[in-house]
Amino acid sequence: MDHFLYRGDQLWTEGVACQAIAEAVGTPCYVYSRATIERHWYAFEHALNGHPHAICYAVKANSNLAVLQLLARLGSGFDIVSGGELERVLRAGGDPNRIVFSGVGKTAVEIRAALLAGIHCLNIESEAELDRVIEIAASLGMRAPVALRVNPDVDPKTHPYIATGLKENKFGIPVEAARALYQQAAKHTRVLGIACHIGSQLTSIPPFLDALERMLALVAELATLGIELQHLDMGGGLGIRYQQENPPLPDALAQVMLERLRGQYPKLALHIEPGRAIVGNAGILLTRIEYLKPGELRNFAIVDAAMNDLIRPALYQAWQEIVPVNRCSKVIARAYDVVGPVCETGDKLGADRQLAIAAGELLAIRSAGAYGMSMSSNYNTRPRVPEVLVDGKEFHIIRRRETIADLLDPESLL
Ligand SMILES: *Cc1c(COP(=O)(O)O)cnc(C)c1O
Repeated sequence: MDHFLYRGDQLWTEGVACQAIAEAVGTPCYVYSRATIERHWYAFEHALNGHPHAICYAVKANSNLAVLQLLARLGSGFDIVSGGELERVLRAGGDPNRIVFSGVGKTAVEIRAALLAGIHCLNIESEAELDRVIEIAASLGMRAPVALRVNPDVDPKTHPYIATGLKENKFGIPVEAARALYQQAAKHTRVLGIACHIGSQLTSIPPFLDALERMLALVAELATLGIELQHLDMGGGLGIRYQQENPPLPDALAQVMLERLRGQYPKLALHIEPGRAIVGNAGILLTRIEYLKPGELRNFAIVDAAMNDLIRPALYQAWQEIVPVNRCSKVIARAYDVVGPVCETGDKLGADRQLAIAAGELLAIRSAGAYGMSMSSNYNTRPRVPEVLVDGKEFHIIRRRETIADLLDPESLL
């Protein structure tokens, strides 16, 4: 459930008309709903209540400082994947002791910065990384807090680009190698837990449960070796509804996982790293129709947003709903390909959409709060678009529109 609803024929975000935002900041622009973000975060919080737990929001889904600040105020933890994201969380007021650091390629500079900041845990993804972390921590006179990210080899049944927990993927440590690596880690680090993350946009519970069983088998085996873990991090990946998907609610997923933990592992804290499920349906991308270009084979609606602003449709063949901001258009509906101005045939935001629209009107691309702005680029020398956060009857510009000067500034002539 979200707060992007029609009042009469006008699309609103909470208590603000989308048209008013478009007029104030121009298009394209991202619009987020504070109430929706908070509602989704609390859905996880309430679901895990009663068992030791941590929600570590995956920053890469939407890393705007104000969004991070909202979540930090709720007491959220954060899952980061770079030194840049570390800087963002600290700048937004996030508690370093609630940060976990994931990723297969952490540099020495990033590891050092994370240790100095006092983050909660580094999720180690290889033997070589463990060696590097031990060495850097030793040079700082400390023992690094770590978990091993294990690759449970389960099929998440999602798009291949966002499946991460299969043997052939680059992520995590194979189950068979984990035991020896834990023994190594136990000698030189502060071993806190075990982590996995099997993929993104998962729409069913069984892959999570498969992964959970494999993690718990390892937890039990490690206990016999005298390695007692404090937390089990099941990663993120819970899907959202873009079209017809029917993903489980956070509560349903949490219940089955907690049921499994309660009897045998009442003290093993459950950590999760949701990204998309918190912010995905909390954002839209507003865009204006520049031209209609009817054709023999297809009709095109050429809009001012493009694949550089929202790459999911082009990169993952993702489907996102496209709706008019003002439904009272008198024209008859036709099938349109909604495309941007970028010079790529793949620059398509939606194909074959039945829309009653005219040039100059506004469209909203829904479910754009996750992996939208955070994956955007300046391709075609297009300044990145502004981000707006709606809070009840007010809205705040939380990122201004880039200027062309911003883009050219780092470059120099010969
Ligand atoms: C991307 C990622 C997440 C978040 O995934 P969502 O599908 O957005 O929930 C969580 N943990 C790790 C390690 C990730 O790489």
